[in-house]
Amino acid sequence: MSRPSLFELENHSDFIQRHIGPTVKQQQEMAQTLGYDSLDALIDDTVPAAIRRTVPMDLPGAQTEQNVLARLKALAGQNVINKSYIGTGYNNTYTPPVVQRNVLENPGWYTAYTPYQPEISQGRLEALLSYQQMVMDLTGMDLANASMLDEGTAAAEAMTLLQRVNKKNRSNVFIVAEDCHPQTVAVVQTRAEVLDIEILVGNPDELLGETEAFGALLQYPGTHGHLHDIEPLIEKAHAAKTLVTVAADIMALLMVKAPGQLGADVVVGNSQRFGVPMGFGGPHAAFFATRDAYKRSTPGRIIGVSIDRRGNQALRMAMQTREQHIRREKATSNICTAQALLAIMATFYAMYHGPDGLRVIASRIQRLAAIFAAGMNELGYKADNTHYFDTLTFTVGDDAQAITDRALAAGINLRIDSDSRLGVSLDETTTAEDIEQLWRVFSGQQDVPSTAALDAGIEGHPGIPAALAREVDYLQHPLFNDYHSETEMLRYMRYLEDKDIALNRAMIPLGSCTMKLNATTEMIPVTWPEFANLHPFAPSEQTKGYQAMLAELDHMLLEATGYDAISMQPNSGAQGEYAGLLAIMRYHQSRDDHQRNVCLIPSSAHGTNPASAALAGMKVVIVECDDNGNIDMEDLKTKAERHTDDLACIMVTYPSTHGVFEESIIELCDVVHQHGGQVYVDGANLNALVGIAAPGKFGADVSHLNLHKTFCIPHGGGGPGMGPIGVGAHLQPFLPSNPVSPVPGVAESNDVVSAAPYGSASILPISWAYIALMGGDGLAQATKVAILSANYIAHRLKDHYPILYTGTTGNVAHECIVDIRPIKEASGVSEEDIAKRLIDFGFHAPTMSFPVAGTLMVEPTESESQFELDRFCDALIAIKSEINKVQAGELDAQDNPLANAPHTLADVANSEWNHPYSRELAAYPVESLRRYKYWAPVNRVDNVYGDRNLFCACPAIDSYREENA
Ligand SMILES: *Cc1c(COP(=O)(O)O)cnc(C)c1O
Repeated sequence: MSRPSLFELENHSDFIQRHIGPTVKQQQEMAQTLGYDSLDALIDDTVPAAIRRTVPMDLPGAQTEQNVLARLKALAGQNVINKSYIGTGYNNTYTPPVVQRNVLENPGWYTAYTPYQPEISQGRLEALLSYQQMVMDLTGMDLANASMLDEGTAAAEAMTLLQRVNKKNRSNVFIVAEDCHPQTVAVVQTRAEVLDIEILVGNPDELLGETEAFGALLQYPGTHGHLHDIEPLIEKAHAAKTLVTVAADIMALLMVKAPGQLGADVVVGNSQRFGVPMGFGGPHAAFFATRDAYKRSTPGRIIGVSIDRRGNQALRMAMQTREQHIRREKATSNICTAQALLAIMATFYAMYHGPDGLRVIASRIQRLAAIFAAGMNELGYKADNTHYFDTLTFTVGDDAQAITDRALAAGINLRIDSDSRLGVSLDETTTAEDIEQLWRVFSGQQDVPSTAALDAGIEGHPGIPAALAREVDYLQHPLFNDYHSETEMLRYMRYLEDKDIALNRAMIPLGSCTMKLNATTEMIPVTWPEFANLHPFAPSEQTKGYQAMLAELDHMLLEATGYDAISMQPNSGAQGEYAGLLAIMRYHQSRDDHQRNVCLIPSSAHGTNPASAALAGMKVVIVECDDNGNIDMEDLKTKAERHTDDLACIMVTYPSTHGVFEESIIELCDVVHQHGGQVYVDGANLNALVGIAAPGKFGADVSHLNLHKTFCIPHGGGGPGMGPIGVGAHLQPFLPSNPVSPVPGVAESNDVVSAAPYGSASILPISWAYIALMGGDGLAQATKVAILSANYIAHRLKDHYPILYTGTTGNVAHECIVDIRPIKEASGVSEEDIAKRLIDFGFHAPTMSFPVAGTLMVEPTESESQFELDRFCDALIAIKSEINKVQAGELDAQDNPLANAPHTLADVANSEWNHPYSRELAAYPVESLRRYKYWAPVNRVDNVYGDRNLFCACPAIDSYREENA
């Protein structure tokens, strides 16, 4: 071997081997265990030859972590961070450093999964319940969910909720106040059009009561800052049986009457300015609050209070836990991944400041706005809005250009409403000096009024009408009052974190979820100010760094998928589905095929597929699967034939949700195309394809990519995520745009699926970094090891548990389904018992009962070491021997360690122990647990109790004090 050059030594990267768990030697041994000479031989025998890519991805080689950070820093440096007064739903904020470091930058929080397994999720469930409490308090509503993707989506969901629940007014008209944020209007319009809802945008005072409408949307305060008394409007609406959604500003709600008190039926908004950076559009948590009567129609996840086996209080996701999977195309919404991490950050911001601290922040903003308005008056500019919280708009006529130029020269972004109208939104980072600078910018004079002098002349809150003034009647719960010292805050967050299993404790083998490494290097750029503090509607000259990073990421993802164009707008997989289906519909319409609206969906599909199809206005037709879990090709042909005139598309997951590479995928694409349909491949399982096959090359027309699965964005305990879509060239013209900041390359009038042009842009550097760190070969290697590890697990388990589906050569793809049905039949032990017993072993359970009821689906990913894979298999095998003992009567049929799992420390430390098995077996079923033991904080949670006694707020102060005494 020749001696490496200095260049090679300097650029040597170990990252691939840090991301991939098994060593190269172990990979070889694992392949041999499976009966193959090499990993490549296993892949050749597993992935159908017909879909294999012949040309490798055109991506650079792996780069070192240092080089990747340096390169990203250089890109970030091309962004210009002006002082932003743009507002429009996005404001500067100070993230409390204790929250930034211990939550946003802490894998104990950001690597957790959606809390499907409540016993190992009590920490994030408590934080999300507090979020609901905070939203209920501030909005004055009965009930809130645990976050929505953004304010626009929340408003669109509110519209469809109002249509569902308004039995007294079946009109199809929805009124939108003309002073709603423009991006909200656009998201609502797109959603309405496909559902045949007619949108009337106008002055609500003129429209309400005059027009038959099932619902209306008001903005409070309006996008230009005007603070209306919306109570008379709501009364007028209700008199005409029109229900009302109010989109509210969360900071303003600290000062002005709660919309719930003014009669609102739904209140939505964004919690971004509670400590979550703007991030060029996201991620942030939107909120959604409504009346108790509409709880069963509410979209998204609601956290509820229930009890555990011992009758102790325990939290869980209520009702809709598996909503889409149960209700399919009749689901209330397609939201699966939401914005949990950001909701939690906003909640901690509120806990850190407390009601009085928040009130000080809001009052200061309001006072500055009043001082600013008074000074502007002196300078000859009278604000268009008489009442306001933090935003003022000025008609400046011909001065607009000169003012904007002076602003830009001073590093300031104003809101530009038109050629003659400018707006200013203040926030918690605004100072008195900023106000004086704004006066200089507007007046062009150096000599401006004194803030101190004007302040002295201001009484009360002149911007807020007396009728809307609010007392501090919120956040009285101890949770929002006990943690104002940083020490207490730090410990409370740690206390919650310790209750949960995240990836920093153990593998999370959730099938279909791809819980792989979220490397620290990938995460670091997220909180760089150059990425974090950019307004989504900042002028494009200031966002060059983002644009360059996005262009490179586009290229990377196009290489990975084989498509021709990409949209970064959808901020979850389900939103990607919606955007992709809209593109398909628009394509058909552009060819005068208006009748094409049938969407074929295999019975095994993920629940978001039919839910998104319904959202896109399509008619769902189910295609059956055969006994091997494969799509029944005969049924497909029959149905494609039957719908040859109205077929819009098929939605299929590849490899299938059953974890199998179906040989028939190419034929399937052909059949659908022959009947005029498009092929949507759900890309959630792309972790089995990257570098070895590309949907865009084997016949698909569009896919979403779950960047929070395959491309390393952490799951955040239930979000954020990103679901960009790749499309063939023929669908490119139908990709989404944005009304305020249009997306280059598509028409400005195109559909809008998210509020911001590039969705949750600030987490995209994570995926960029991952791809740069791995390089083309590293990514392909990761895919191969993901497949290897799944087959290794299937192999190790197969003598103990039936493995449900395999491909024609007996192999699985990147996940495998363990069938518990025959075991339950024989022993009475259920898949749930096994899932909960795994907690005693320190593991998060696999995916339960998806895609097949009564099964567990295991996805190890490439990132788990052979040590961890073995530890997990050993746990499942030990559990199987317990099951055998139950079956043989050696363990009691009812009172056994499986039925009673998980066991808490309180269980085994209790002086009474009445079970026929030992405490030792309960807590330490394997020796290795003596080194490190996770204790579930609660016993098995009672799901039925929680739904029967739905309670979705923080438990009353007394009960809280008792619980924590
Ligand atoms: C995760 C997943 C989705 C939904 O993605 P979200 O980002 O949660 O909206 C859709 N389809 C499949 C197969 C998935 O696994």
